[in-house]
Amino acid sequence: MDSRFDRSLLRDADLLREDLFIDGAWTPGSGGERTEVVDPATGVVIARMASAAAADVERAITTADAAAPAWGRLPAPARSRILRRWYDLIVEHADDLATILTAEQGKPFAEARGEILYGAGFVEWYAEECKRTYGDVIPTNVEGRRLLTLRQPVGVTAAITPWNFPSAMILRKAGPALAAGCPMIIKPAEETPLSATALAELAVRAGIPRGVLSVVPGPPVLVGEILTSHAAVRALSFTGSTEVGKLLMAQSARTVKKVALELGGNAPLIVFDDADLDAAVAGAMASKFRNAGQTCVCANRLLVQSGIHDAFVKRLQVAIEALTVGNGFEEGSEQGPLISEAAIEKVQRHIGDAVEGGASVLSGGRRHSLGQTFFEPTLLIGVHRDMLVANEETFGPVAAVLKFETEDEAVDVANDTPFGLAAYFFTTDLGRMWRVGENLEFGVVGVNTGLISYEGAPFGGVKESGVGREGSRHGIDEFTELKYLCVDGLAG
Ligand code: ADP
Repeated sequence: MDSRFDRSLLRDADLLREDLFIDGAWTPGSGGERTEVVDPATGVVIARMASAAAADVERAITTADAAAPAWGRLPAPARSRILRRWYDLIVEHADDLATILTAEQGKPFAEARGEILYGAGFVEWYAEECKRTYGDVIPTNVEGRRLLTLRQPVGVTAAITPWNFPSAMILRKAGPALAAGCPMIIKPAEETPLSATALAELAVRAGIPRGVLSVVPGPPVLVGEILTSHAAVRALSFTGSTEVGKLLMAQSARTVKKVALELGGNAPLIVFDDADLDAAVAGAMASKFRNAGQTCVCANRLLVQSGIHDAFVKRLQVAIEALTVGNGFEEGSEQGPLISEAAIEKVQRHIGDAVEGGASVLSGGRRHSLGQTFFEPTLLIGVHRDMLVANEETFGPVAAVLKFETEDEAVDVANDTPFGLAAYFFTTDLGRMWRVGENLEFGVVGVNTGLISYEGAPFGGVKESGVGREGSRHGIDEFTELKYLCVDGLAG
């Protein structure tokens, strides 16, 4: 293999895997194709990942189907122990996994390491939760009859995941799926397959049985078509764009699969006059610039009330200009490159459209002098609700500030979007906290914070941001079916 990944960066070089993982074994697949994996910070090809052909995906489904009954029947404590071992191995190898993640995705190493531990948290949490997927005993309606419910594994599941959280988006699906007793077939994003195969390597070491976890990077349309059309796949969990999510939902309708979709957002972050300014600036920075603005919960619109507007903008500008942009492996780097040239073009298009419409660039606004896909952290003020930047997810390091006057106006602007994933607001008024918290049409609302993710809490969107929830006791429902047992003939 002539990949240029610097294996000396890894303590355990066996974590770097460039093959498909099917039926408990590594295979180059039957298609003979490979896809280049590029370090976005340098443009260097770091790996050549095998690409699944139709026969490979079908084999992954067949072997998952064969593995499903035994995995589903395994008593919960036994499944829990295996998942716990996987969690321990992920934590033990967090540095190597973060190195692989930064190399293929670009985010700063510390952020990558944070992602690994965050993702691992889902495996740990669901390793515990699988011991508690209770059913009910329902008070009977007929003498001599007993009514019960059981939570049973749905069967073979599939996950299609994005490049912005190459590790956590997999673990947040595989954790609950495996815990529920379901095998899972994972199609990672073509940009970031190495994080997926590294996790599979640790799954083998943890003793996850063959067929229970497979990784099949490959042509998205082909792999997506097979995973959604095959009758044996009973649930699909997808994180990615709304456009692809709608397509996969429609494709899954042919075999009426359960679908869980985490799609795009257009998160508002509202700063009211009565907000704690320090908290609001810190929250805006954390929410906006994490992963260079490339998350579906990044604040896309900063709605700032007129009384606090100038003070907030001044403080935000200082914070933005203090950000260190650099290769994710450099000490102190806080913002890495964007994932691709197309991502840069979208950011430029949004800034251009806003400026044309009358907005002003206070900081940044251009490609960074580091070249490649680095972009300057940008602050835009004077943004209006009809501009592109306020209507589409920018997915880049652009803080777009809109000024508003009243609470009703802020809520109206915030809700004026087909999306409904995350929203944030900053206030110290208790009544406003409840009113706005209840009136925002979003699945996740952060109050006085810009960071809301936690494996024990339900994450998911409303409207066109998706269906289903990940994390918490609700997340396992996506991978189980509720069976009702009606037992009669018990009268003495
Ligand atoms: P993004 O624009 O962030 O890359 P996508 O929705 O295109 O978001 O990608 C998210 C995931 O969906 C990736 O794994 C990608 O390969 C996959 N994907 C893209 N198009 C399709 C498709 N037509 N069918 C199945 N999967 C797809």
